[in-house]
Amino acid sequence: MTAPTPITLDHCLALDADDPLAGFRDRFHLPDGVIYLDGNSLGPLPAAVRTRLERVVEAEWGRDLITSWNVHDWIGLPARVGDKIARLVGAAPGSVVCADSTSVNLFKALAAALDLRPDRRVILSDSGNFPTDLYVAQGLVRLLDRGHELRLVEPEGVADALTDDVAVLMLTQVDYRTGRLHHMADLTRRAHGAGAVTLWDLSHSAGALPVDLAGAGADLAVGCGYKYLNGGPGAPAFLYVAPRLQDAVRPPLSGWMGHEAPFAFDLDYRPAGGIGRNLCGTPPVLGMTALDAALDVILDADMAQIRAKSQALCALFIDLVEQECRGHGFTLASPADPDARGSQVSFRHAQGYPVMAALIASGVIGDFRAPDLVRFGFTPLYLTFSDVWDAVAVLRGIMETRAWDAPEYHRRAAVT
Ligand SMILES: *Cc1c(COP(=O)(O)O)cnc(C)c1O
Repeated sequence: MTAPTPITLDHCLALDADDPLAGFRDRFHLPDGVIYLDGNSLGPLPAAVRTRLERVVEAEWGRDLITSWNVHDWIGLPARVGDKIARLVGAAPGSVVCADSTSVNLFKALAAALDLRPDRRVILSDSGNFPTDLYVAQGLVRLLDRGHELRLVEPEGVADALTDDVAVLMLTQVDYRTGRLHHMADLTRRAHGAGAVTLWDLSHSAGALPVDLAGAGADLAVGCGYKYLNGGPGAPAFLYVAPRLQDAVRPPLSGWMGHEAPFAFDLDYRPAGGIGRNLCGTPPVLGMTALDAALDVILDADMAQIRAKSQALCALFIDLVEQECRGHGFTLASPADPDARGSQVSFRHAQGYPVMAALIASGVIGDFRAPDLVRFGFTPLYLTFSDVWDAVAVLRGIMETRAWDAPEYHRRAAVT
């Protein structure tokens, strides 16, 4: 949809002047000359994380050494950080732990979910799921060697594929490529109607839009700490188990940190009560501390305001690309309806790779997803409406001058 009158820079500046979240930008370290449209892949550095890490390194690890497990309650970090994340995903206190990576948590959660439906053999997922989720499921099927099957359908076909052989419905709520948003409450209700357990991956949802795990009746969930939660590269991830299932869940990675009494050093495993049994090994204190401090920034913001601004930024970007870059080969790959999207926008473009490489070289950082998607994340706590204007102006310049066609932009990097 094209706006009836052309969008101007003044319009964007007026939106900035009215922005209730404008004050949050100063709480992030953002390099000069960069418009960062990749917070959906790696969140930037919150200023408070740097000071907090300095303190942990010097006063806790450096000075108080091993006593810090008690004195600074390092041992309580997975639960404490989990409770902060719980507030962002509509979960009760004591139902989320921070631990491991998303991939590892998915393994733990999927194994536990299959164990809750011992008579069924199908893991249902969709072809828009993030590959690591599918790879982990494939590896688990092989490891179990009990005839399980990973069944993939198109995202639009999930509801109809909920047959009575499905043990687990395993979905990522927001499609990492297009931003298409699954209706969590509706699909959870249908899955339960078919007797299946639900496992949601919230990697592109947590911190980006309101999530209501408890309200949706979800069973298990996992999600990522380094995307919208800004926990830093390789930040620990999280795992949710609905309170009603916590004592039924049998963790497949039965490590000592999930033991009822780790420091009794018993020879036999006994799971802790509650969510804590889903821990495995020692928490990565530095990484988890960074995530802990980063979460405080998001928790100070109003999630409804975050969602409203995210939708407005995405809509402005789409309208501006259509207005400024018409005829340059971009096709919207994300749903046009703001309520059907997460917090990102993707366009297909035949020269997507060099176009994105040229954009990044000009200070507008998005990313490329094979085969032909240029992807842009919109993160309301540190982006302005005039950033969107400026980003599209740079894109237009690259297209008009064909700057993207320089040989260096065609060379593929190891990480895209
Ligand atoms: C980002 C992402 C992951 C990342 O998993 P890691 O274990 O952190 O590498 C997993 N699943 C989804 C859906 C993601 O978007």
